[in-house]
Amino acid sequence: MSNFIVKKVAVLGAGVMGAQIAAHCVNAKVPVVLFDLPAKEGNKNAIVLKAIEGLKKLSPAPLGNKDDAALIEVANYEDNLDVLAGCDLIIEAIAERMDWKHDLYKKVAPHIAPNAIFASNTSGLSINKLAEGFDEELKARFCGVHFFNPPRYMHLVELIPTTSTRPEILDQLETFLTSTLGKGVVRAKDTPNFIANRVGIFGMLATIHEAEKFGLSVDVVDDLTGAKLGRAKSGTFRTADVVGLDTMGHVIKTMQDTLQDDPFFSLYKTPDVLAKLIEKGALGQKTGGGFYKKV
Ligand code: NAD
Repeated sequence: MSNFIVKKVAVLGAGVMGAQIAAHCVNAKVPVVLFDLPAKEGNKNAIVLKAIEGLKKLSPAPLGNKDDAALIEVANYEDNLDVLAGCDLIIEAIAERMDWKHDLYKKVAPHIAPNAIFASNTSGLSINKLAEGFDEELKARFCGVHFFNPPRYMHLVELIPTTSTRPEILDQLETFLTSTLGKGVVRAKDTPNFIANRVGIFGMLATIHEAEKFGLSVDVVDDLTGAKLGRAKSGTFRTADVVGLDTMGHVIKTMQDTLQDDPFFSLYKTPDVLAKLIEKGALGQKTGGGFYKKV
């Protein structure tokens, strides 16, 4: 296994993260099969095709190079699961819900090749709990691979083992992430939201609650937490819109479900302003409206 080479990647989920992780891999000349749910009507691969169109609109365009674009194969879970047998690395990047991830894992697990690595891009769900339905062999090849958004610019990736992950699996994945994708890897423990989100979402929540308490506008807060700190594009609310407000809601729920003994537990409630936007379906950049109309 020491000569493990990733010749083909499957990315499960063509949303904000999955589509960009796929683009990042093909930019490194690694072919990718990009999966999503089958569309209810019309072309069954419509969700993935729309995601690829979205990638083409980004500037600079990650798929501007035709040769790279040709390395992405489109797929759906109804027709193409057999393609998984030819993939050395499977990265799951579907919505941040343990029950939805488990349902998908049941479907894909029988198709995963015996030596392939399976990894979840979860923001902070327990990696051990995600692996609960697997047989021992797949458990040993499963781990968390937490890319940050946007994955083509953010250097950090957290790698999170289960209690059964074989050490060489982490080493092989780390080699791929660093040597092929040019990332910097931090190994994290399987604690709620791992390291970066435990700190990052804590800070964002504290800021949003204080903004609500003192009636601060989105612009003022983003000026204070973004431009004035020299981070022009990453004020608190703009970051929330880029992450996706539903995803942020799921990450906060993980804190509510798992951190009852934390001294700051009272902070981990969903701010009203966030709950209202989620209820309206204004989920940030991916829906074209969130804290900002256009991000
Ligand atoms: P997203 O909402 O943009 O995309 C989610 C994708 O999951 C969609 O393409 C959707 O069709 C698919 N999906 C929804 N329900 C499904 C189901 N029941 N079965 C199969 N597929 C389903 O989400 P995202 O932001 O790309 O997040 C994906 C994963 O990456 C999550 O686990 C999230 O926590 C994690 N993550 C997100 C960010 C971020 O900033 N958005 C950063 C790091 C990690």
